[in-house]
Amino acid sequence: MRQEMSVSVSAPVDRLHDFMLAWARVTPDEPAVVEAGPDGETAVVTTYRQLEQRVHEYASVLDGLGLDMGERVVLESDTSSSAIAMFLACSSLGLAFVPVSPETPLKRLLTIVETTEPGLYVQALEGKREGLPAGLGVARFGPQGLTVERRPRPRIRHRREPVGTDTAYMIFTSGTTGRPKGVVMSHRAVVSFYRGMLQHAIVGSDARVATTSPLQFDFSLLDIGLALGSGAAVVPVPRDTLRWPRRFVKFLKDMEVTQVDGVPSIWRSALKHESEQLASLDRLRGVLFCGEDFPLPELRLLQRLLPKARLVNCYGATETMACSFTDVPNPLPADLEKLSIGFAHPGAEMMIVDESGQVIEEPGVQGEIHLRTPALFTGYWDDVAATRRAQVPDPLNPRSGQLVLRTGDLAHRGRGGEMYFCGRVDSQVQIRGNRVEIGEVERKILEFPGVTAAAVLVVRRPEREPVLGAFVSMARDSTAPKGTELSAFCAETLPAYMTPKELHVVAEWPVTVHGKTDRAALAAVAGL
Ligand code: ADP
Repeated sequence: MRQEMSVSVSAPVDRLHDFMLAWARVTPDEPAVVEAGPDGETAVVTTYRQLEQRVHEYASVLDGLGLDMGERVVLESDTSSSAIAMFLACSSLGLAFVPVSPETPLKRLLTIVETTEPGLYVQALEGKREGLPAGLGVARFGPQGLTVERRPRPRIRHRREPVGTDTAYMIFTSGTTGRPKGVVMSHRAVVSFYRGMLQHAIVGSDARVATTSPLQFDFSLLDIGLALGSGAAVVPVPRDTLRWPRRFVKFLKDMEVTQVDGVPSIWRSALKHESEQLASLDRLRGVLFCGEDFPLPELRLLQRLLPKARLVNCYGATETMACSFTDVPNPLPADLEKLSIGFAHPGAEMMIVDESGQVIEEPGVQGEIHLRTPALFTGYWDDVAATRRAQVPDPLNPRSGQLVLRTGDLAHRGRGGEMYFCGRVDSQVQIRGNRVEIGEVERKILEFPGVTAAAVLVVRRPEREPVLGAFVSMARDSTAPKGTELSAFCAETLPAYMTPKELHVVAEWPVTVHGKTDRAALAAVAGL
């Protein structure tokens, strides 16, 4: 029998491994991780007890290497029971894990290795990484254990017991919002985030939570914390499955998934090609999405196909893992133009701040989101200047010493105080001297019948004034508009400088490794 959701299971101290293994004390024989077996169909279960055992096995081998607390361990793997055990073993020894995906290009990986100077590089048994620096300690892990292939050089160990302020992990952002930065997160920050998230009771202990993001995207850590922190099971979706909508939906069915977490783009092909199969996922009770706006036409369709599922819009950034969880209204009102990102999770608070540093309270006035939260990251790795730009004095009490996160995201409040995301500060562009908010144009384009996804870029052609270019993906049975038609449609409500002057209909919507719209690839489509 599984525990009721009201049972409070809490870790004694704010450390990642204590938090994630707390349910091993309560329901040791329940599934913690559910994976597809070799046939791709049968579920292989790792219980909480087995997961904890694997953590201990890995930790005892790691311990023998003599790495000092705070040293970095690069962890190359997809999400799996072993990868989870591996990062929890690092956590228990105070080693900061740096997750990287097997898809990471070697050049980027070498930059990460060069910047973080890890004590050890661990990869999954099936990993094929070559070209690592010769002096680096290397180990491999799998269900059978952790094998050291090259020992790190001996070092002096200063401390043994991690405390809440020690580093749990470091994540390199994908750079969609600027240059990639190493976000350093403490145990205390991540555990306080998890506790806030769990207040939303998104899943119960009988849930199976599918995780679709690569391990190097902290969205995967959110999913793992959501599942293990609730006494539920996490179900890693093999990355290649996501490319084949039929396989993806079949996997969700075979693994008896009840909750799917992922960026909006994971649904795009299934909505287009497998809508009947999607509608037959009768166990599915919840969908959580994060990372970018869910295009409303696609979200409406998803809700039509899965009317019983609770859809949650999760907003946030790597620097605080995430910050709000907002239920999508069910049904979505026909005249709704924008999803809300609601309020910060319990224990945190979002503020909107104008350019002069004043906090904006009134609805409808746009400013930059600042977040007050104990889940604030420690800093960017080796980058004091960037850290100072992101962690700024509390605008309401600048002399108090409290720091808040300056997100770089624009928002305004609705009548009830809830927030609406309006794009990035740097997504405001100038067209013929006018300030244009790209997101506003994208939303208008999404209202055109048959358009399911839209992006707008500034098009700069030699010897011409910059104009806006629209990129759209169409529903299966719809005819794409002509460029002039779309411009005329936009001109109904937008000023002339905000109407797109170029149109590109995109068959395969390009996404980054994190599954967000790949604007650089779209630019390439247009020859920019
Ligand atoms: P990167 O994309 O550079 O790796 P992050 O994953 O931390 O960095 O991206 C965080 C950003 O993604 C936020 O600052 C915001 O602009 C955007 N974002 C996150 N969640 C949402 C959401 N639910 N709706 C709209 N935008 C979002």
